[in-house]
Amino acid sequence: MSGRADEVPAVASSTGTSATAVRNAVRRLLDTAGADGILPIVEAGDPVLRTVCAPVDGQLDDAELRAFADALHRTMRSAPGVGLAAPQVGVPLRMFVAEDPVPSQLDEAAAGRLTVRRRVPFGPRVVLNASYTATTDATASFYEGCLSVPGYQAVVDRPLTIALAGHDLAGGALDEELSGWPARIVAHESDHLDGVLYLDTAQMRSLATNDAVARWWGRADTREAAAALGFEVPATSVF
Ligand code: ZN
Repeated sequence: MSGRADEVPAVASSTGTSATAVRNAVRRLLDTAGADGILPIVEAGDPVLRTVCAPVDGQLDDAELRAFADALHRTMRSAPGVGLAAPQVGVPLRMFVAEDPVPSQLDEAAAGRLTVRRRVPFGPRVVLNASYTATTDATASFYEGCLSVPGYQAVVDRPLTIALAGHDLAGGALDEELSGWPARIVAHESDHLDGVLYLDTAQMRSLATNDAVARWWGRADTREAAAALGFEVPATSVF
């Protein structure tokens, strides 16, 4: 354990889900963002990450909603990450952004790692009121991390394909099937809206620091990590 309990966090998050509380939380964030427009990310242990978030339902006008989405995008990119949900900046609202550009200039080994993970370019996207359901019994087991749990990754078994419902920023209804890494990103971010962290369903014996993942498991099949660290990969998981 490390002892830094006396430090007061700079982040002001709120678990209030009333329209007024959400509106005030967003306005306060946008007003106090630095010149770079990047928002502080809240970390595991903050109650807002365990809150069932309020649907986006007119709490914010179009300009505020767009400004908040832009701020989430800037914050995600600077972190850097491939997804960021509103509760991760202290706002219990059912909204997330995602973007996984996937660099095109990669050596063979790096390209191979992307192929195994079915990691293809995705986004940029803003999704409001997201919900998802698995559309197959097949799953995928890979290391993933979370900007609210910095420094660590763990193996999570997730549906290989999902149906995503929700709305885009313009209010258009979303009804689409996603597979591979985009499905993982969307499932992870959607879970945040229900107060669920990836560690809730992760294989806890797989827990590893980012450095350990890079050293030991960055190039490996998850089954090698499972054998070495002592956890189970479900029989439904495809590789
Ligand atoms: Zn996360």
